[in-house]
Amino acid sequence: MFDKITAPQAGTAITISKGTCITPNNPIIPFIEGDGSGRDIWKASKKVFDAATAEAYKNERKIVWLEVYAGEKACSVYGKDVWLPEDTLQAIKEFKVAIKGPLTTPVGEGFRSINVTLRQQLDLYACVRPVRYFSGVPSPLKTPEKLDVVIFRENTEDVYAGVEWAAGSKEANKIRDVIISCGKDIREASAIGIKPISEFGSKRLIRKAIQYAIDNNRKVVTLVHKGNIMKFTEGAFMNWGYELARKEFGDMLITENDLHAKYEGKLPKGKIVINDRIADNMFQQILLRPHEYSVIATTNLNGDYLSDACAAQVGGLGIAPGANVSDDMGMFEATHGTAPKYADQDIINPSSVLLSGALMFEFIGWQEVARLIISGLEKTIGQKYVTYDLERSMSGATRAKTSEFADRIVKNIRGN
Ligand code: NAP
Repeated sequence: MFDKITAPQAGTAITISKGTCITPNNPIIPFIEGDGSGRDIWKASKKVFDAATAEAYKNERKIVWLEVYAGEKACSVYGKDVWLPEDTLQAIKEFKVAIKGPLTTPVGEGFRSINVTLRQQLDLYACVRPVRYFSGVPSPLKTPEKLDVVIFRENTEDVYAGVEWAAGSKEANKIRDVIISCGKDIREASAIGIKPISEFGSKRLIRKAIQYAIDNNRKVVTLVHKGNIMKFTEGAFMNWGYELARKEFGDMLITENDLHAKYEGKLPKGKIVINDRIADNMFQQILLRPHEYSVIATTNLNGDYLSDACAAQVGGLGIAPGANVSDDMGMFEATHGTAPKYADQDIINPSSVLLSGALMFEFIGWQEVARLIISGLEKTIGQKYVTYDLERSMSGATRAKTSEFADRIVKNIRGN
């Protein structure tokens, strides 16, 4: 039972069994429009999603959208300071698959990020961000097409776990006392944040990344960590990764050391290499030798930085998609923020939500819709009909509004 939303009579819930979606022809999918420029982006994206579904399946299949609330809109529907209503969490749990736009988070004060809270409350432990080049998109690299990675970022632990206290607070002072009693020192009146990394949390994330590599014929899995400095957290992440690879995927995976020691650097048929890189090295590796990387498994903060840096290499956040998944739920979202200075001006690039939608359609098994969205988008960019962010660094391009860009994609999807 919900408080202020009503499940549509016309639709049916998706179910997920052993990681696979069982999708009815009329699945109910909750959406969060998002704050700021999220409003424009969502409107444009929904139009494309519905058009691609209609093109793929005529009247046989149709998404039944259910609006649920978070962020500023939640406060106007549910009352002051209700940023994330229980209804929203319940609806996503019940309907299993959801999509969202960006939500505002104030820096250094006020409530915790709603995005982080959503991921943690729903235990969406893997943030999956595929980053690849789309032909025609302006990029700072000479050969951006060499980058094609899928980043699995742990979503529930690390310094994002929300275990921190303000400088000078009673709690911070108490924790400082405990730390000093354990033989370590912390400067007086310090703010304190805790970085928990567990074997359970690390292994389930790394398992998902390796399974993805196997299912999608990818040949390298890289564990990214800062284990040289944070030995018991980041270093343990790496050690648990190798241990899991050996115990659970020993017949498929070989280490980089073995690749050179036993196979003269030539990957045997049917095998996948597992290696690791220290995070700072990884940032230069991915820039200088992007083609050597494919699937990346990493801790929360590394993953946050690395996925934005990778997105920048292929043209920026405006076109980077993201998914937050567990074993029985998926929430798909734009990787950029609310870009408030562009709110309600109909100028922002909706591609991040569009491509997140394509991921969502793949997740629910409607591959045809995903392909239509991607090909419609590629065709539109190829026609140099793009939003401001791409237009400003593309020669001979036409600047389109968000809505015009979406309309052109729809036209290209319909093939006219
Ligand atoms: P942002 O909203 O991502 O915007 C930063 C800049 O990135 C924009 O000014 C714009 O650059 C570019 N950009 C972002 N989205 C774009 C799009 N769709 N099309 C074209 N360009 C785009 O980051 P922010 O200003 O740091 O954050 C604003 C708010 O969003 C904060 O409250 C933050 O906490 C929140 N946030 C939410 C999420 C989320 O919901 N998942 C993620 C990150 C941040 P130009 O100005 O150069 O054109």
